[in-house]
Amino acid sequence: MTETKIISHWINGAVDAEKSVRTSEVFNPATGQVSANVALATAATVDKAVTAATNAFDSWRHSSLTKRTQVLFAFRELVLQNKEKIAALITAEHGKVLSDASGEVTRGLEVVEFACGIPHLLKGGFSEEVSSGVDVYSIRQPLGPVAIISPFNFPAMVPMWFFPVAIACGNTVVLKPSEKDPSAAMFLAQLWKDAGLPDGVFNVVHGDKESVDALLAHPGIKSVSFVGSTPIAKYVYETGTKNGKRVQALGGAKNHMVVLPDADLELAADAAINAGFGSAGERCMAISAIVAVEPIASALVARIKSRMANIKTGDGTQGADMGPLVSKIHRDKVASYIDAGESAGATLVEDGRKVKVGGEGFFLGPTLFDNVTPEMTIYKDEIFGPVLSVLRVNTYDEALALVNSHPYGNGTAIFTNDGGAARRFQNEVEVGMVGINVPIPVPMAYFSFGGWKNSLFGDTHAHGTEGVHFFTRGKVVTSRWLDPSHGGINLGFPQNS
Ligand code: NAD
Repeated sequence: MTETKIISHWINGAVDAEKSVRTSEVFNPATGQVSANVALATAATVDKAVTAATNAFDSWRHSSLTKRTQVLFAFRELVLQNKEKIAALITAEHGKVLSDASGEVTRGLEVVEFACGIPHLLKGGFSEEVSSGVDVYSIRQPLGPVAIISPFNFPAMVPMWFFPVAIACGNTVVLKPSEKDPSAAMFLAQLWKDAGLPDGVFNVVHGDKESVDALLAHPGIKSVSFVGSTPIAKYVYETGTKNGKRVQALGGAKNHMVVLPDADLELAADAAINAGFGSAGERCMAISAIVAVEPIASALVARIKSRMANIKTGDGTQGADMGPLVSKIHRDKVASYIDAGESAGATLVEDGRKVKVGGEGFFLGPTLFDNVTPEMTIYKDEIFGPVLSVLRVNTYDEALALVNSHPYGNGTAIFTNDGGAARRFQNEVEVGMVGINVPIPVPMAYFSFGGWKNSLFGDTHAHGTEGVHFFTRGKVVTSRWLDPSHGGINLGFPQNS
């Protein structure tokens, strides 16, 4: 009998050799088979990783911007060369189709490319002669060892929202990826080493609540960047800030797509399919609620339904359009929402439970509900699966009120040919990322990613300028160099005359 592979931690530039007492099974969701066991870190293992990051910090923070940029460029080349390998690792543990996994790596690479511009991004301000012979300038300095805790649904991209910027700014990193799909993080760690990053600057610990709690409590960790579900995001934010850490905690989502009567319905239907069922709906920017402003609801539903017949659900390595869900438990939970929607009286237009792929994989076909109302759980909850709900309203104002009354505020989209209506929506909607005839408005790396309300705890979004600010502390220096004319005692503030 062959032994199941063990995935261990990456500490101080090498795979950690210590045998783990606790492990968790990693599945291939397309086959339902266990592919590996991942080590679950204890507080002692976390301490080992934080110590490595602490020891590496002083030297890394004093490495020149030129040196840091060279390492970033080398890492960028290596990720690009190995994109398909990383995508294969993602598909094997997450289940998303290969093209989508490859796209995830591309989006992560864009943050690496953004971070390659760190010499420019870290430039401070300078004011000469603020008082006689006095100059003032601002600088931004790294925090120290920082923690990144990421979810299962983007095992490469979400960590890459943070670590390129953190490292470019001179910090050292302890990444705690999802224990459901840990391999992409390990591969990226090896690529950092190959790119010339000094040992200890980038570490990976695997684990569950125990390791997260150890990171939140560790005095060596200066900041926490978390992405995951809302209850855990809130917990991480509250615990981390209570322990004196800077925290950005991105949570769950329920993203609405408003379709106005003048919209191009073919475009809207394509968008609904792509944004609703891409990655089997396991995206924080997936569209899960379509708000159709009458009289177009029936026409839109018909168009979405006809397109759904063409979606092939199956193994992501075998040319399917939509892969399995990440685990059996999650698949069953999503299926239970379909039961709940039916019981609550929503119209089940397409039933994903009927889609049979064969084998033991965690598959569920795409599902469409019409006549969903705001009090139904299929509308209120984040389902995180391939279940799309259509809510019918009569006016733009009703649509806006619906979006704004939802506790989540991650992403939203409006489909219309009316520029004035789109502009009004962009101004009035209480959501962090807005698409206008664009269903998944994920900001480019040089802008910042983040939602409002229950979709983000803390006030700093990921990457872009906000990312640079999160991973640095501002300092302002006021300087005067001795001049023969100086002197004299003055106990008052300067008059600057
Ligand atoms: P999750 O909250 O279960 O897990 C996220 C991380 O927290 C993982 O590393 C996990 O090991 C850890 N964790 C789990 N339970 C914990 C606990 N009790 N205490 C401490 N740590 C714990 O999320 P998930 O299922 O991996 O990911 C899906 C969720 O992530 C969805 O809600 C999705 O919307 C959200 N998400 C949000 C964004 C965003 O940008 N806002 C992006 C991607 C995913």
